[in-house]
Amino acid sequence: RGDTADFDSEVESICPFCGVGCQISMKIKDNKVKYVEGINGPANEGRLCVKGRFGFDYIHHDHRLTKPLIRRDDAPAKGLNVDPGNYLEVFREATWDEALERAANGLRAIGGTGVAGFGSAKCTNEEAYLFQKIIRQGFGHNNVDHCTRLCHASSVSALLENVGSGAVSATFNEIENADVAIVIGANPIENHPVAATYFKQFTKRGGKLIVMDPRGQALKRHSSHMLQFRPGTDVSMLNAIMHVIVEEELYDQQYIEAYTENWEAEKAHLKDFTPEKMAEICGIDAETLRDVARTFAGANAAMIFWGMGVSQHIHGTDNSRCLISLALMTGHVGRPGAGLHPLRGQNNVQGASDAGLIPMFLPDYQSVTDDGVRSAFTEVWESGDFSAQKGLTVTEILDAVHAGDIRGMYILGENPAMSDPDVEHARDALAKLDHLVVQDIFITETANFADVILPAAAFAEKAGTVTNTNRQVQMGRPAVTPPGEAKPDWWIEVELAKRLGLEWSYTSPADVFAEMKLNMKSLDNITWERLEQQNAVTYPSLSPEDPGQAIVFADGFPRADGRARFTPASIIAPDDTPDAEYPMILTTGRQLEHWHTGSMTRRSTVLDAVEPEANCSLHPSTLRKLGVEPGEFVRLTTKRGSIEIMARMDRAVSPDMVFLPFAYVEAAANILTNPAVDPYGKIPEFKFSAVRVEAAKTA
Ligand code: SF4
Repeated sequence: RGDTADFDSEVESICPFCGVGCQISMKIKDNKVKYVEGINGPANEGRLCVKGRFGFDYIHHDHRLTKPLIRRDDAPAKGLNVDPGNYLEVFREATWDEALERAANGLRAIGGTGVAGFGSAKCTNEEAYLFQKIIRQGFGHNNVDHCTRLCHASSVSALLENVGSGAVSATFNEIENADVAIVIGANPIENHPVAATYFKQFTKRGGKLIVMDPRGQALKRHSSHMLQFRPGTDVSMLNAIMHVIVEEELYDQQYIEAYTENWEAEKAHLKDFTPEKMAEICGIDAETLRDVARTFAGANAAMIFWGMGVSQHIHGTDNSRCLISLALMTGHVGRPGAGLHPLRGQNNVQGASDAGLIPMFLPDYQSVTDDGVRSAFTEVWESGDFSAQKGLTVTEILDAVHAGDIRGMYILGENPAMSDPDVEHARDALAKLDHLVVQDIFITETANFADVILPAAAFAEKAGTVTNTNRQVQMGRPAVTPPGEAKPDWWIEVELAKRLGLEWSYTSPADVFAEMKLNMKSLDNITWERLEQQNAVTYPSLSPEDPGQAIVFADGFPRADGRARFTPASIIAPDDTPDAEYPMILTTGRQLEHWHTGSMTRRSTVLDAVEPEANCSLHPSTLRKLGVEPGEFVRLTTKRGSIEIMARMDRAVSPDMVFLPFAYVEAAANILTNPAVDPYGKIPEFKFSAVRVEAAKTA
């Protein structure tokens, strides 16, 4: 931190990393961000974590793309073989005109369902909206998706099914009005650090925090109950808790009668899930399950927070259905301190989903199969109809590339060559494409496979809105100019769309936002001008003066009959269970210092200095058994592949488990992960693979 002499100007914006959406002030000197401070945003009240405070200098990294690039005619075969700091042996520099023409012509030549798109949860709402519009209007179908498929797709599918809305019912800050909270399958101290500060404050003033996670974690120290259940057994544990609530009649009959449906079926379904029987499956003793049931049901107001540990399973939708049922039967929804909150991951995964960057929904989760909905959009777009068929998801699109059905892709800000399960399958698909256009700020692993690379502005270099986990639409502002010829994503999308033959005339993100409002009721009473003045407005906002509703569903649910639904869930085993050959369980996730595939945080000086090397975590007894000292290497092998990686000792990981962060290309976690998906959300089972762990020869 410096004083005012250290900077020429300051710009208020949003931290570009996680879905908490902390507001920041960037201090600028000589077109460089010198340092960052937290300001008084609704989600952070001045607080920042290490990424928000110190993780900004990636924007000035010398790997930044500064000119459009086109693959050279004499480039080596497509593969993971490009040095991001020295790429001119593979790509040649081009003018914007040439690169955009080449990008558009290649996509046009393939055309129709032969082309698919991955947009980005790191871009703004306006950019996400334009991206889905390019695919729908330009190619006539819905084969467009983004990383929500890899994160909370199963939660959203359960929420839409049972409460009629995919967003949170209460902001995380509402925990200050709760007396009990469950945090399950989430590690907020590492992944939503500023939200975690509110959770810790809640326990300091006497709130009971029930943490449920197969991996121990830092929040355990603050918990009243820590349930370290067996991986993949969420449904058995949650059904046992609900069984007790039914058995002891701790449910809220009045609420159930007034606001829900299918209760009798849920009640009957839960009969068999006795805590004694379920304890044998989930590993949590029956008395603890009973105590948790009484504590949660007995609360005046209780909240449930969940993360990828719940959603990234082949039974992720069932896991979320259980959490929704638990909240409904106890009436812990729609009141201060009560609610359902899937902690969203990326800075704008909520907004990108809201903006229609998904294959089954147009903006505001309006179904592509509904003729009236499609015609409302084509009227605004002044264009013909597009397919009424739901599009393909992220993993389905890559399968379709292997099948030869998709030959061209436009990928904006996503990195499937690192982020997809069984990543060699994804990399082979990218190499197989006839035409790949990648738009990004660095030569990512995915850009290695590109035919055309369009250099984009970083978040601190452009204007646009983003929506955080709390449903808060917030204004991002440009603080510095992009390097070289890099351009804001919205500008590149508009120029590409024009060359695809679309008559787009947007001249600013504000133009796009104005169009979004025409078919997005969620943005009622939220205008660009208002966001410029106020920085943030929560949706829904009931009037131009209303700062927005922190809590929704007080008077019923946005379903046809206004009632939420109980959907019973049965036990489904993980897809890839341990056996003699692969006896342990692999689970993957993030670390505090690194963000997703590491393209930004591994180029941030402070963050990379704190956490510089690929590592996995193993229990001390496992390391002893292997004869491996902390800091030495182990080999991890699954049915998909094998990596060697430095081992760390971690008592929080159970002896039959290995935890593997996925930010490191040199030991890419997704070489190992299982592509099997949840049938509803189509989300892969990143959280459970059978694995063999051995001492590496290099140890
Ligand atoms: Fe940024 Fe999330 Fe940290 Fe806030 S908690 S500073 S949004 S990474």
